[in-house]
Amino acid sequence: MGNYSRILVTGAGGFIGHHLVRRLKDEGFWVRGVDIKLPEFEGTAADEFEILDLRLWDSCLKATRGIDEVYNLAADMGGIGYITAFLADIARNNTLINVHMLEASRMNAVKKYLFSSSACVYAQCKQKNTDVTPLKEEDAFPADPEPGYGWEKLYTEQLCQYYQKDYRFETRIVRFHNVYGPLGTYEGGKEKAPAAISKKVALAADGGNIEIWGDGEQTRSFMYIDDCLEGLRRLMSSGYREPLNLGTDRLVTINELVDLLCGVAGKKLTKKHDLTKPQGVRGRNSDNTRLREVLDWEPSISLEKGLQGTYKWIESRCLKVKYAAAR
Ligand code: NAD
Repeated sequence: MGNYSRILVTGAGGFIGHHLVRRLKDEGFWVRGVDIKLPEFEGTAADEFEILDLRLWDSCLKATRGIDEVYNLAADMGGIGYITAFLADIARNNTLINVHMLEASRMNAVKKYLFSSSACVYAQCKQKNTDVTPLKEEDAFPADPEPGYGWEKLYTEQLCQYYQKDYRFETRIVRFHNVYGPLGTYEGGKEKAPAAISKKVALAADGGNIEIWGDGEQTRSFMYIDDCLEGLRRLMSSGYREPLNLGTDRLVTINELVDLLCGVAGKKLTKKHDLTKPQGVRGRNSDNTRLREVLDWEPSISLEKGLQGTYKWIESRCLKVKYAAAR
């Protein structure tokens, strides 16, 4: 792929899309960003940025005109509280975005198309223990994904594969496992665990309390944004057409995540567990065997290092608001 390629990043006003636009620009590509909103925390690096609602067919046709490669990252999504509260809205919005984006890309002769799927496609019955066996790509079947958000992702993965078979349309399918980093949503209800906990730690007084959803023993793996971008670029450059995990395989409990963030902040906090709040599956980890085979690489940025920058960024945002309110 030469740098003369024209690339579309959808969801370019969001967390991963915004970072990806900057990475592609640094590599010398021409980039169009599309979203229903501008990036919230800094200006875009894209050559063009269009505000479009990609649930609409005409918007998808407009977004994909004159484009060689698409990274389709637009989605109605959020943390566990959000995705368990709005099943119909999320499933409908994302179905519309993905069905229209795929067909508009094909009609506009896009050469390669990436669909951003999720670890939420994995069968819930295989994620009932905290010491969960890492999930291999084939563990998505027999299908038993996360209601709403996960079902839509699994269906769209299939749709991408039908497009490959029937139209020889080149698709790549990535299953992200918990991506975190600076410039991501950290308030408003759509934030995910690392950002939500960073904000709580930043706002708590040293020696105070912190509310944790569930008993905190639920386990996950977390990938820093720079590793995510590297994996995306490698997958897009590969010839691999099946769904592929992209995450780390270091399993931590949410309680451990809280302890790491308290360490970064230099605070001692007492955890108050709220068992009425959603916690998602009991345990989830990525099996990276195929990732290593296909990409000849795997994410390597440690959680300790990644959380440093993430926490500092969220803390500085929270302190700005606090000082402004005190004035
Ligand atoms: P994000 O919410 O920060 O970004 C998604 C963007 O899509 C938002 O800016 C939103 O405004 C935009 N969008 C929503 N509806 C739209 C519409 N109708 N038209 C145009 N734009 C619209 O999320 P993210 O973390 O950057 O996630 C990017 C992709 O990766 C999504 O497909 C998501 O499902 C997937 N994913 C992310 C994670 C993660 O940990 N961040 C995990 C699994 C999967």
